[in-house]
Amino acid sequence: MPLGEGHRFPVTKYRLLRDKLAQHGGFVFEPAVLASLDEIKAVHDPAYVDTFCAGTLPEAAIRGIGFPWSQGLVTRTLASAGGTLAATREALTTGLGCTLAGGTHHAFAAEGSGFCVFNDIAIAIRRLLRGARVAVIDLDVHQGDGTAHIFAGSPEVFTVSLHGRNNFPFRKQQSSLDAPLEDGCDDTEYLTALEPVLPQVIQFKPDFLFYQAGVDGLLADLSQLSTF
Ligand SMILES: [Zn+2]
Repeated sequence: MPLGEGHRFPVTKYRLLRDKLAQHGGFVFEPAVLASLDEIKAVHDPAYVDTFCAGTLPEAAIRGIGFPWSQGLVTRTLASAGGTLAATREALTTGLGCTLAGGTHHAFAAEGSGFCVFNDIAIAIRRLLRGARVAVIDLDVHQGDGTAHIFAGSPEVFTVSLHGRNNFPFRKQQSSLDAPLEDGCDDTEYLTALEPVLPQVIQFKPDFLFYQAGVDGLLADLSQLSTF
């Protein structure tokens, strides 16, 4: 997707990750099939979906997302949700599925936010796991606010978020379980916060577990951002 000169989103990270895994060997890569609008509307407000895809979202809504609108952004967004749907189907068949470009957890049902247009994990839950007990462990450094809000009234979905207390999103939502952390916390503090969370996830007895790996919690991510 074209972002224009000097945009702060490190979009090349996706290609770098793919290249790294390809060098490592042992992976079979499959292009994501685009999610259909019907699949997306299982979670998202139909008017929001249609206006985003048509490029007619109001300017303020586009600013909230943080990307300039383009046809490339639409394709990339549908592919990201499609990749998560495919990974979910894979997990239902084999026990494990992965996608390299999902985790758009700041997207709410009727608006995007923080570089997230549609909430891929929420779409997969609503489309493929209706009625199942699902846990979402979100270890991205930013709170999974969209996911928390979408499933706030759904006792069958247990949302967990470990995140920085003081960074985006500045207005936090309430997950089933939130563990806010101070800036600059080290590995020991992080693992001390995570350890008591996992037994609670197991106690919930989920049929299916999403792990939003984030990776932006890593100190190395901060130092590498400027080179992306
Ligand atoms: Zn993040």
